[in-house]
Amino acid sequence: MHNGGITVSTYQFLKRFPDEATARAYIEDRRWHGEPICPYCGNAHRIQTRKDGYFCCPACKKDFTVRVGTIFERSHVPLDKWLLAMYLLTTARKGISSLQLSKGKHSVNPPGKLTSLIA
Ligand SMILES: [Zn+2]
Repeated sequence: MHNGGITVSTYQFLKRFPDEATARAYIEDRRWHGEPICPYCGNAHRIQTRKDGYFCCPACKKDFTVRVGTIFERSHVPLDKWLLAMYLLTTARKGISSLQLSKGKHSVNPPGKLTSLIA
């Protein structure tokens, strides 16, 4: 970052994704739309939810997280750091985020100026 500063939108971003659980839930929603799919066998039925982002597939008996099969899989970097890094990359390059992080997420968005801070 050439200026090294924290912008207002970065602040908003950090408020929105304060920890890995929040970031993981966001990525899960973007990837699966509320219905986890086993990355090993493709099964989407009766996927069991476990602790800390783990799911268990009843068809192939394997545990998985949203990281499996993505660029996050081999990384030990927390997902909230990943999200922040991607956010900073996209905003640095284009001036706005292509992630459109707030799209459809805030039901109580104030009209006008604040709505464009994250999207
Ligand atoms: Zn499976």
